[in-house]
Amino acid sequence: MDGVSVSFDGFKALNNLSLYVVAGELRAIIGPNGAGKTTMMDVITGKTRPDSGQLFFNGSVDLTKLDEAAIANLGIGRKFQKPTVFESQSVLDNLDLALKGNRRVFAGLFARLGKAQLERIDEVLERIALTDFRGQRAGNLSHGQKQWLEIGMLLMQDPELLLVDEPAAGMTDAETEKTAVMLQEIARSHSVVVVEHDMEFIRALDCHVTVLHEGSVLAEGSLDSLQNNRDVIEVYLGR
Ligand code: ADP
Repeated sequence: MDGVSVSFDGFKALNNLSLYVVAGELRAIIGPNGAGKTTMMDVITGKTRPDSGQLFFNGSVDLTKLDEAAIANLGIGRKFQKPTVFESQSVLDNLDLALKGNRRVFAGLFARLGKAQLERIDEVLERIALTDFRGQRAGNLSHGQKQWLEIGMLLMQDPELLLVDEPAAGMTDAETEKTAVMLQEIARSHSVVVVEHDMEFIRALDCHVTVLHEGSVLAEGSLDSLQNNRDVIEVYLGR
């Protein structure tokens, strides 16, 4: 993102924001309420158009020229904070439905699952720690498991970049820890950008962290370096 600005009624939600994420990176974005985190995600996915600035994906595609569907088709997937799984369907069927939404799979909605698809689903089930729950109704899963299922549904669509909004919100400590490991694993083969408030979770992610404040980057670095950064302390503690 290069010099991206977005205003709402004259208020700058993003103010000349420049941010660079390397392919295959796991990056955490933090910042106080109103810092512009959600607007940043909205701009990347094409939900909100920037007033100025440029956004490049894979070095060359300018996302500001594309609409939401075209951006999703490029391989940018987003998971919102609240899990939105099909509660009355099984875990397996949720993943199957997501696979049928995959831009590279042209199977009809009612096509039977082939061997290759089942293998793909098994692989994702393992990644999201739901192998033993494949036949369960999604509605019966815990909140944390629903979040994982939704991450799995995103993976079924083969995104290159995953944007994940507060995955640890409402999770137990054990689920939070497991989610951090899961995202680290996913980042071995994908780029992952996580917006999060939970500092324990950020610590467990053990990745490069960007602090947003008033629509711009305030600081970047390891969580340890940021916790000793005066600007960051001031923004978080109001001192
Ligand atoms: P964060 O996700 O970091 O809490 P947001 O991106 O949601 O921050 O918001 C940044 C600022 O922009 C906030 O002050 C918010 O009130 C404002 N804002 C966001 N979306 C809109 C909108 N659609 N209309 C007006 N103001 C908005």
